[in-house]
Amino acid sequence: MKEINLSIVLNLIRSHGPLSRTDIVQRSGLSQGAVSILTGELLASGFIREIGEGQSKGGRSPVLLVLNPHAGFVIGIKLTERAIVAAITDLEAAVVYSKLYPVDCLQDPQVAIEAIIQVVEKTLADSAIPRSDVIGIGIGLAGIIDSQEAICCYSPILGWRQVPLAQPIEQRLHLPVYIENDVNTLTIAEHWFGTGRGVSHFLVVTIGRGIGMGIIVNGQLDRGIIGGAGEFGHIVLQPGKPQCSCGKAGCLEALAADPAVVRMAREAIEEGRQTTMLQGVHDISQLTFDHVAQAANQGGEVALEILTEAGCWLGRGLSYLVNLFNPKLIILSGEGTKTGDARIEAARQVMMQYIFDRLDKDLDLIVKPMEEEAWARGAACVVLGELFKHPINRDNRIGLLRGVV
Ligand SMILES: [Zn+2]
Repeated sequence: MKEINLSIVLNLIRSHGPLSRTDIVQRSGLSQGAVSILTGELLASGFIREIGEGQSKGGRSPVLLVLNPHAGFVIGIKLTERAIVAAITDLEAAVVYSKLYPVDCLQDPQVAIEAIIQVVEKTLADSAIPRSDVIGIGIGLAGIIDSQEAICCYSPILGWRQVPLAQPIEQRLHLPVYIENDVNTLTIAEHWFGTGRGVSHFLVVTIGRGIGMGIIVNGQLDRGIIGGAGEFGHIVLQPGKPQCSCGKAGCLEALAADPAVVRMAREAIEEGRQTTMLQGVHDISQLTFDHVAQAANQGGEVALEILTEAGCWLGRGLSYLVNLFNPKLIILSGEGTKTGDARIEAARQVMMQYIFDRLDKDLDLIVKPMEEEAWARGAACVVLGELFKHPINRDNRIGLLRGVV
């Protein structure tokens, strides 16, 4: 009961602070005595602190309470094919330290586990954040992740099946470790600290090497039965071709993600079409998504045509999402949103064209370009989301009564 009330008070201060004790009594429905004891405990554990004085309604001005963002820190890890990105954030999800570590052989789970442990140790040493201030570690990676059992069920990029990732790291580092699908980590970050705050139904769609999705329904992350919900990139839109990385053909990802754009560009060049895409590129195999995006920005017709085609497929896919989920908000993010605006514009137009009836009425589609660090920050937010959850739903490895573990 006490843990629940502590959590209510902390979350009120976190989301609505600065608040006076009287404000907290009014908003929480708790008694003045209870609020006094609870805020006393949160002050003692360092989770909140007192600042200045608020507006007085006669008499003495009340002291205001705010979250102390540096009362604890969390570590976020993003695993990619050839690198580990680590970030440390404070309790408001602000990144205080981050670094990318190139690592080979992550395809071997033992190598990956050892590398993550080394990266955490190095990050702690380099950032000078005391280990005792760290609440937990979040790890994000692409694929089907059973976050409850902390097992990576399937990661096509790393070639993993049924890898228990969290437990060995937890045993060595003596910190709670959470693992989550990487797009879900971004979704959790948006839900707690970003544009999705207070939005009960929204989707995060990432575009880059692949196409992924995170789903918030009724204010909750929806992972599906085995953590496989959101495999938006692998809905088949054009049966038969082109070949997809998943082994099937005609998936949205194979038609609209960055490698699809590069494939179409190479085909256009091989067909001998007049193109500006090869400026500065001597070998067709060196062509990247950025080359195509740049050519389109300079008015290159072929590049524009290719990005538009990819965007039309993406827009078609997005319209299905709107018809299925009726979201308030879709956040388009990922490395592929930094450039190549023609793809996004085409996607927006086609999506609007195919949406059923008036489901577009209250829909916001926003584009949020992001850097590599955002993935690691997202992984850190998994731990923060757990900490700020209602205690009934929270994992028992972290809590406010024990303070920072
Ligand atoms: Zn596929």
